[in-house]
Amino acid sequence: MERALIGIDLGGTNIKSVLLDPATGRVLHAARTDTQAGSGVKAVVSNIVSAIARQQAVAKNQRRHCLAIGVGSAGLVDRGTVRNSPNLPGWQGAVPLSRLLGKELAGSGIPIVVENDVNAMVLAEQRLGAARGCRQVVGLTLGTGVGGGIIIDGRLYRGCRGGAGELGHTVISEDGPPCLCGNRGCLEALVGAAAIVARYRGRDPGTRGKRPGTTVAMISAAARRGDRRAVAALRETGRLLGVGLANIVNTFDPEMIVIGGGVAGAGGLILEPAVREMERRAMPYNAAHVRVRRAGLGPQAGAIGAALAAADGIARGDGRGRAR
Ligand SMILES: [Zn+2]
Repeated sequence: MERALIGIDLGGTNIKSVLLDPATGRVLHAARTDTQAGSGVKAVVSNIVSAIARQQAVAKNQRRHCLAIGVGSAGLVDRGTVRNSPNLPGWQGAVPLSRLLGKELAGSGIPIVVENDVNAMVLAEQRLGAARGCRQVVGLTLGTGVGGGIIIDGRLYRGCRGGAGELGHTVISEDGPPCLCGNRGCLEALVGAAAIVARYRGRDPGTRGKRPGTTVAMISAAARRGDRRAVAALRETGRLLGVGLANIVNTFDPEMIVIGGGVAGAGGLILEPAVREMERRAMPYNAAHVRVRRAGLGPQAGAIGAALAAADGIARGDGRGRAR
């Protein structure tokens, strides 16, 4: 019997799911459903269970045996428990997601592994995407928040409690603008979407969007039309991102830094000045070897990576208790 993995990407708006062939890395089936984050933890868990059930039905139709289920979630994920997930209201405390799902799916006997969503995305890019073939990889997602994931010798590095890779909250400017994490001058506070919009409007990046409307996509489009203010805002954002990249390059000496997330859609407008600044600041030997690339797998990367993380977890012996 052929095998399959189920991957779930739990977002604030959507739950994306894939059925993945572990032998080829091919997505056999993909689906998307509303998270209904506002309806509370129970409703969200029930929606995840439905998404899993649909993929299980597809696997059954294809006569495939499901090896494992991986769920990628925002927030700090420590041994199956999600902490401080910022985009899910009611999840500010600790939600034992692995245990809750295990209870719902107890009959299936399929192990469940919960992973941080950015870790999952970076794992997918390292195994199947832009960083395929690289063993030392750091990934960043640029969006409203700035997330990070670290792969050392081909495996995710989680730290001792799942908190490693918070590269968005490394300090770039000691007395810089306040960050939502409580610190000042974090990479996220300087290159997150709100900071880019504020910079474009000529305001201090610390001021958070009172007037909705302008998006980074609009600023990128304006820059491509030659709008100088937009070009300057993205170039300065890229320069500050480059300071962060230099720190990453000096710390990890990666083969590749993969950059994903919506803001990465600005492409070279941000990434070219970022690479220039990184090359100016990082140790020359490291800077000469590292490649900086945009993520290649698109919006399914998180779900694909969750499935891969589950397979890795099973190999390690995680998720064995099903209802841990
Ligand atoms: Zn921060």
